[in-house]
Amino acid sequence: MKRNTWILSTSLVLISTLLLVVFSLGTLSRIERVYSEQTSQTLETLKRQFLYSSVSNQINRIDTQRAIHQTEYKKQLAQIKWHMDTAYAANVETFPQLANSFFTQEVSPIWTAVLWQRETGEVFLDSQGIIPESDPPIEVVNKLLHGYQLYELHSYAPYTLFIGISQELIDEEVKKYIAKEIYNSEYPENSYIWVNEVINYEGGDNYAIRRIHPNLRDSVGEYLSTDMTDVQGTTPYKTELEGIKKDGELYFTYFFKKMDSDVISEKLTYARHYEDFKWIVAMGIHLDDLALYVEDTANKSASIVGQITPIFIGAIILLFVLHSVLLIGLEHQRNKIHSKNLEDQVYRDPLTGIGNRRSGLLALKKAYLENKKGNGAGLVSIFDIDFFKHINDTFGHDAGDRCLIQLTETLQDLACSKDALFRWGGDEFLIVCPPLTTEQTNKMAESLLGAARTVEVEHETTQITLTISLGFASFLPSDKSEIDVLKRADQALYQAKKAGRDRFVTLL
Ligand code: GH3
Ligand code: MG
Repeated sequence: MKRNTWILSTSLVLISTLLLVVFSLGTLSRIERVYSEQTSQTLETLKRQFLYSSVSNQINRIDTQRAIHQTEYKKQLAQIKWHMDTAYAANVETFPQLANSFFTQEVSPIWTAVLWQRETGEVFLDSQGIIPESDPPIEVVNKLLHGYQLYELHSYAPYTLFIGISQELIDEEVKKYIAKEIYNSEYPENSYIWVNEVINYEGGDNYAIRRIHPNLRDSVGEYLSTDMTDVQGTTPYKTELEGIKKDGELYFTYFFKKMDSDVISEKLTYARHYEDFKWIVAMGIHLDDLALYVEDTANKSASIVGQITPIFIGAIILLFVLHSVLLIGLEHQRNKIHSKNLEDQVYRDPLTGIGNRRSGLLALKKAYLENKKGNGAGLVSIFDIDFFKHINDTFGHDAGDRCLIQLTETLQDLACSKDALFRWGGDEFLIVCPPLTTEQTNKMAESLLGAARTVEVEHETTQITLTISLGFASFLPSDKSEIDVLKRADQALYQAKKAGRDRFVTLL
């Protein structure tokens, strides 16, 4: 690989690794942030639902209590009426007296009872003292009827009896009941319901009265102002009143002291209008525990991220190192193969696979230098196929090629060493050996000759056989270069050819 490509590839991997690390760390911290936000949102939603359902339940209980009270008073009215009917039936004369004592002694003072003589307007009974002397009772009673949900207007001739109870009084009872219920209620996380009664929907000073407040019981009955501010300078009562007027309900936050403590913290509040009573029923829950919970959760997730991050970065760096090692290894391997191919191209004979003339010359040079160093006279041989032209001519060039290949395979292992044989050119071969004795030389020569004779190259129906002629020569101290020994070997070969071929000649 070229240096530039290498630098480019490494830089790319390095940049991608860095980008991956930065991106991953960014993602991790974003996940953490989203997780915290999600947690706090989920918690706030839960708190909102809790406030909503608590206030809704309380308002449902007001409605229920009003219905229960209605039924109760309706029953009482029926009983009172039955008593009056009975008294009238018993004695018309004593009826006014009986009615009077019954209402003063046995009936709850909450009831309004008026008995008068229809003709004269003479009043016998006025339990609440509502009939002025100047006005006829029937007119006063008729006016009253608007505010009375439960009543009986009955004629016990010559008298008329009115029995009724005002809605206001029933509601007062309900309000007392609800106040008691709220004070006795317990809600999680120190939350509670409180009630303010609106006097003036326009706001301002004395716009409302605090009616029920479990956290500030002493202040119940106090007048409130929409200008009241919390520690942050906001005006929660104003916000509340405006929300109520607009939608009948609202969520808002403000700062308020915690139950049974002097700590002031942000409070999420839900308030709903109960129009019949002009009540604002509200409930709040402090948010600081939520912040603590979110912080705790965020810390936990941060610590997990903190634990994961080094492992993550380590893994990415390891990946980078592995990648680089792999790249270097592959490159090394590729270079090796490449240079081997190159070497083969330069030093190998493509037909036979043995060393070519160039590598033969190198081996010769080496042997010559060894010889010069005084390490003994190396042996050199040139051999050549006999009448190879004839083989080519008779059987074709391809068959000739196969002869060259097969001869090489046969003789390769018989030279002094496996890499001592070179193709010198055409049908000529070169052998370069270390110093050998004459006996060793002769033995090698005979075995080469013998082996060459055994070569049989199949061609169609015939077997091509061949012989070789060899010339041997050794380096001489007087040699000026490796060419000198070559010349002598060539000469020896020539002599072998001349002497009839299929033989060897050694020139020393
Ligand atoms: P001699 O016994 O005197 O050596 O006779 P010869 O016919 O072998 O003569 P010479 O060695 O001069 O001829 C070599 C021939 O080898 C000449 C050429 O056609 C042939 N030859 C050279 N290279 C190749 C080759 O790569 N393949 C084939 N098939 N023939 C080749
Ligand atoms: Mg030849």
